[in-house]
Amino acid sequence: MTDLLVRGTQTGIIVIGGGLAGSEAAWQAAERGADVCLYEMRPAVFTPAHKTDRLAELVCSNSLKSDSPDDCHGLLKRELTAYGSVIMTAARAHAVPAGSALAVDRDAFAAEVTARLTRHPRITIVREEIKAIPEERPVIIATGPLTSERLAGALRDRFVNYPASADPSADLLDLLYFYDAISPVIAGDSIDRTVAFAASRYNKGGDDYLNCPMTREEYRLFWEEIRAAELTPIHSFEGTRYFEGCLPVEVLAARGEDALRFGPMKPVGLIDPRTGRQPYAVVQLRLENREGTMYNMVGFQTRLKWGEQRRILRTVPGLKSADFLRYGSIHRNTFINAPTLLLETMQLKGDPGIFLVGQLTGVEGYLDSAGTGLLAGVNAARLLRGETPVVLPETTALGSLIRHICHANPRDFQPMNVNFGLLPPLDEPIRSKRERRQALAARALRDVPDLS
Ligand SMILES: Cc1cc2nc3c(=O)[nH]c(=O)nc-3n(C[C@H](O)[C@H](O)[C@H](O)COP(=O)(O)OP(=O)(O)OC[C@H]3O[C@@H](n4cnc5c(N)ncnc54)[C@H](O)[C@@H]3O)c2cc1C
Repeated sequence: MTDLLVRGTQTGIIVIGGGLAGSEAAWQAAERGADVCLYEMRPAVFTPAHKTDRLAELVCSNSLKSDSPDDCHGLLKRELTAYGSVIMTAARAHAVPAGSALAVDRDAFAAEVTARLTRHPRITIVREEIKAIPEERPVIIATGPLTSERLAGALRDRFVNYPASADPSADLLDLLYFYDAISPVIAGDSIDRTVAFAASRYNKGGDDYLNCPMTREEYRLFWEEIRAAELTPIHSFEGTRYFEGCLPVEVLAARGEDALRFGPMKPVGLIDPRTGRQPYAVVQLRLENREGTMYNMVGFQTRLKWGEQRRILRTVPGLKSADFLRYGSIHRNTFINAPTLLLETMQLKGDPGIFLVGQLTGVEGYLDSAGTGLLAGVNAARLLRGETPVVLPETTALGSLIRHICHANPRDFQPMNVNFGLLPPLDEPIRSKRERRQALAARALRDVPDLS
């Protein structure tokens, strides 16, 4: 490591990784008077997905998702703007027409972030791969889902059997996951309960599952649709790492008509109360949060295009009006077991000088990642000034996401993006979905704290 690191941290903060989260963290800390040394390994070392040497490069889509005030992604944008996000400033400056979404000219956007950070008098950018966790504090680790192998190894060594794990089950957990596939998440209030029935296989485990029953004919049509569906193109480096126990539905479907019915869609141990019989196949939905506002489609990890997921999965009985809070996707994704390791300030339990942010913590998405970086930048600067780090209100989109990753069940922790299902319910229930969302968004914006 260069001596800049030591110079930079006598009064300052180290940030490792100049992606969405790291760039935002560096900016926020520097704006609060801290000297920041930002380490980015590109262009000396590239990830398999990044193509340029720019900071905040968008590796895939140029869409930052919905900009509508009634959508939780739209709410997150407004919160980040209120906090003075550099990522949002650059995004607005380089927006391209995309209906109700905020999409950007990716090159101009990344160039703008790079220029702003390069010009900042308190930020020094060093192009170097960091291979071990530095001794200096505070340090913000923002190396993303494609964290370099050497640093990922150092993190794994550090976290396996991590002594600060309060959870007695932690010794059973591999605290750094390599995870290839995620299943869609559906809004609980969009599931037709007159069709989907609550039951666990053989009545084990209470009624935490909803089951969408299928007849032979419905199953056959569904299987044919999956087999013929369009898939998201895959990077060559991602193609070979499926775990046999976690295969995408389209891979299973290609193995034959019954593969899904003997796999994630097996109906054994489930009796449909309306027919008194076992269905031919089922799609199981598992509670994703305690409030029951989100359900995960069990075993439905997939790389079907989003439009195809919407079209085909809505043919499942009970899911005709399914509202997808997160789509299934597949890519290499290194992330820590945040519920075991992280505080809501983004600090590591037991070593509060280390902050972990971005997709590495199990949040999913460009702005969700930038948001966690924002909070860490604010808190690292506070730490340096001897002030207590802040926790964001759980009624805000970003606060609820961070709360979720820090308090989810560590045993089946999966990446998550902001969505209204994470927010605590309103004091007065509102039936209309649109009005409920508007009320949740209004409450969130009222509760956004002044972080200056
Ligand atoms: C193939 C793929 C496609 C994706 N598509 C989308 C999408 O369409 N929309 C979406 O919202 N999200 C997408 N994501 C998720 C996306 O990665 C995150 O939303 C976002 O980029 C995460 O921000 P981050 O700052 O955590 O990580 P990144 O933006 O990846 O930033 C991490 C940075 O750390 C650097 N780095 C890594 N290791 C080291 C090291 N040891 N030393 C120094 N620097 C290091 C990297 O070069 C990189 O610049 C995709 C991810 C992948 C892998």
